[in-house]
Amino acid sequence: MFKYIDIHSHVNFSAFDADREATVKRALDAGVAMINVGTQQDTSKTAVEMAEKYENGVFSIIGLHPVHTGKSFHDEKELGPSFASDSAKASPDMKVVEGKEGFTSRGETFDPGYYRELLMHPKVVGIGECGLDYYRLEEDSEQKQKQAFSAHIALANETKKPLMLHVRSGSSRSAYREALDILKREAKVGGDFHFFAGSWEEAREILDAGFNLSFTGVLTFAHNYDEVVKNVPLDRMMSETDSPYVAPVPFRGKRNEPIYVREVVKAIARIRNEDEEKVRAQLLKNAETFFDIKLS
Ligand SMILES: [Zn+2]
Repeated sequence: MFKYIDIHSHVNFSAFDADREATVKRALDAGVAMINVGTQQDTSKTAVEMAEKYENGVFSIIGLHPVHTGKSFHDEKELGPSFASDSAKASPDMKVVEGKEGFTSRGETFDPGYYRELLMHPKVVGIGECGLDYYRLEEDSEQKQKQAFSAHIALANETKKPLMLHVRSGSSRSAYREALDILKREAKVGGDFHFFAGSWEEAREILDAGFNLSFTGVLTFAHNYDEVVKNVPLDRMMSETDSPYVAPVPFRGKRNEPIYVREVVKAIARIRNEDEEKVRAQLLKNAETFFDIKLS
């Protein structure tokens, strides 16, 4: 039925408003399934509505991204200009960032009731993206991020859904160990560290604690993660694009989309020096097991 899966994409974002259906069709026709991931209430709802539209191959994950728990920069590719003007009315402290396509907003408080209702839909296969983002840490946002993270974990434990984890370190501070400490203490379900960008040492601790990693098109143009990709057992990793961001070679600079996950799988096979067909089949199987879905 499907040959590949992009386990973390955002075709639900406004970057795809003009050709969302065509983008999904391009992927499905090529045997590429996808999971669209929400980052706050609106994008989570759109992700679920998209999954409802297709009989096969389109799933969703819902939650509140750590950067949206506090005053944060909103990217126009994610939420679009209309969200900006609606939010301007709703939050008086919002300000447009000069010279950038986007704006900052006050952020969302995680409402378990809202997300619990979305979770009733059978094609919602996980909770997130949630976690810790220390890259652009504002005052008091660490506490808000940690509170929202724990609330996601509680909801995941309650509904037995796996966690889609967004963990990003700051320049002088690793977020991986702090996130892992929280998970070890609180999580009773599995989790995937999406867009893994840590060291092999951090990866090993994550694997030892029973969590998985997924990789993006960054592998096609940077060598920083080659050691990690070589060392992670093949049955503990998955493939993703994080569309519309970071398109792989040979599509660098273009808008990314789920069909390009084929380049990520190719890169994993090349870095590990393993047969591409073997890697492709195993990564598909990993996603089936992890999200409890049928793809092949
Ligand atoms: Zn994402």
